[in-house]
Amino acid sequence: QSLQADTTTTATCGFCSTGCGLRLHIRDGKAVGLTPETNYPVNLGMACPKGWEALRVLDSEDRATEPLLRSKSGEMQSVSWDRALTEFTDRLKSIQSRYGNDSVAFISTGQIPSEEMAFLGALAKFGMNIKHGDGNTRQCMATAATAYKESFGFDAPPFTYQDFEESDCLVFIGANPCIGHPIMWERVLRNANQPEIIVLDPRRTETAMAATQHLQIAPKADLQVLYAITKHLIDTNAIDWNFVHDHTWGFDQLRQHVDDYCPDRVAETAGVSAEQIRRAADTIASRKAVSLWWTMGVNQSYQGTRTAQAIINIALLTGNIGRPGTGANSITGQCNAMGSRLWSNTTNLFGHHRFDSEADRRKIADILQIDEANIPRDNSWSYDRIVEGIRNDEIKGLWVIATNPAHSWIHRGDFEELLGKLDFLVVQDMYHTTETAKHADLLLPAAGWGEKEGTFINSERRYGLLKKVCRAPGVALADFQIFRAIAHYWGVADRFQSWTDPEAVFRLMQAASVGTPCDISGIEGYRQLDECGGIQWPWTSEQASQGKPPRQQRRLFADGRFYFDDGKARLIVEEDRGMPEPPDADYPFLLMSGRGTVSQWHTQTRTGKSPVLRKLYPKDPYVEIHPDDADALNVANGQYVIVQSRRGSISVRACVTATVSVGQLFMPMHYDVTNLLTLSHFDPYSRQPSYKNCAVRMSKS
Ligand code: SF4
Repeated sequence: QSLQADTTTTATCGFCSTGCGLRLHIRDGKAVGLTPETNYPVNLGMACPKGWEALRVLDSEDRATEPLLRSKSGEMQSVSWDRALTEFTDRLKSIQSRYGNDSVAFISTGQIPSEEMAFLGALAKFGMNIKHGDGNTRQCMATAATAYKESFGFDAPPFTYQDFEESDCLVFIGANPCIGHPIMWERVLRNANQPEIIVLDPRRTETAMAATQHLQIAPKADLQVLYAITKHLIDTNAIDWNFVHDHTWGFDQLRQHVDDYCPDRVAETAGVSAEQIRRAADTIASRKAVSLWWTMGVNQSYQGTRTAQAIINIALLTGNIGRPGTGANSITGQCNAMGSRLWSNTTNLFGHHRFDSEADRRKIADILQIDEANIPRDNSWSYDRIVEGIRNDEIKGLWVIATNPAHSWIHRGDFEELLGKLDFLVVQDMYHTTETAKHADLLLPAAGWGEKEGTFINSERRYGLLKKVCRAPGVALADFQIFRAIAHYWGVADRFQSWTDPEAVFRLMQAASVGTPCDISGIEGYRQLDECGGIQWPWTSEQASQGKPPRQQRRLFADGRFYFDDGKARLIVEEDRGMPEPPDADYPFLLMSGRGTVSQWHTQTRTGKSPVLRKLYPKDPYVEIHPDDADALNVANGQYVIVQSRRGSISVRACVTATVSVGQLFMPMHYDVTNLLTLSHFDPYSRQPSYKNCAVRMSKS
């Protein structure tokens, strides 16, 4: 069969938050190939291996093609949609009537389009009386969102990707864009300013190897080192005093706090010398356009929020915000983590409003044409609290949509045991073989990227369009259609009459955004998103009245005004908390986890299906260990070892490498065994799990 395409179209990639444009080549109504879009302002003709393989993973044999219901004998049996949705409704309603409405919860995702997230959140909360629901974005972006809200007055990453090319100094903290965000890294490589690249990371990552300064800090010494850099900036008068005076609040308290973080003292435990700390600070002070970037090394920490704010503080103190090449910039993980932050209707009411505000509830009720009494007055429980709710028999029914917590949740062995306590577990997913789907009582087969439409919001706040270029297999449906059907079976379809298709929901989102910092009322519709290569928020109707949206270069805070009533950003500091489970005599190694490769995505649910991507990454789990430690344990490269924490024990191959320091180990999160070891511990403000620090021991297998 010829694969000659008869037409092409562009859609946003569905893996990571970079949001690359892909050109889909279509024959007889089906995508038969893809290439990176050359005329897209994000990726400029580039794509990483995951993007190139985006179509391949749709054809996997383990796609969920029909609803599956667990029989009394424990087998999963195929059933009709009618039977599946009748079971869904009867059993969840029965749980609610026996244990109360709040005994049913949902766990959603950053992987589905904004319109589907909005529909799920609205259906659950305004239709099904489910108050508690959270997303897997709690595992990646909650810290950044909390930090921005407290420091800027709104969850607002300020940057645009052009900043990668316009900085003359880029500082990466707990971030490895070489493999985590490879197209963003390509934008760094296009920077013609010969930028200084400073990396703070305990591992000698691919990005650290390319840096001009690598501060190979001790694990979780980031907060102390950032405070030490701040102190040195103050001591050397490298502060933009006008900016601090006019646009920030809290400097005196900050100065007093960091006074205890002398570089010489911090260097005693931080794994780097005072000279390295001072050199990094002096470099920041000497450059005109400094951008600071962070990802999971910061966010996934027991003190992530304050660490992110220590980064924000440095940008504010040095006036590195609102100008080209600057910013305190959190890079998102999932393709639509930003959509979840705005539209999931979990910890914020639809469109970053507040559940506890009567005015906000009335505004949303008016826009959605529902009774205000249908809107709860409280926030959802966070993900970890929902998990504890299962443990305490408060949650008896759980609905999991497009995420795989039985692999990804911290201390997953405990989580899997808890799943067994539920009266009813519904999993809605593209595949019937995920670790979570294996526990399901009911599996609802969902369409994936390329089989439905909607919008994703990328890390630079750009709404990008995804399109239906393939048909979902069997009788699998778009999540949007599943939510519509559930509204009907639940008996609340009348509340969602205007939710007819994704673009209709996009218009509701636009209406809800009016008057907020993320106002998108000026976007004409999906067609304009397509024509413009996506549009960054905000894009208000007032801006739209003055011309077309620019394709690039829209960053926030150019006027120095932040989102608090007084317009000033907050400088926030707090004492270092200390590691919750430091290594000791019994468990002498510190285990870190993270992204291990450019070719795999999170729990490998999709990317593991591509033979090409699998060839680019070891199939067997491995642990990185320093050569000196390997010598001491008499362990050879490739040999199986036992890694054991207080929670579990696993057998993996040793990868002997100096990327980690003595006493430290690293395991990729893509393997299902990694979270058998991790410690259930959370940032107190964001409730984000602290994945990157637990004590383990190792021995030969
Ligand atoms: Fe897709 Fe991210 Fe790769 Fe771009 S960098 S092609 S968005 S996975």
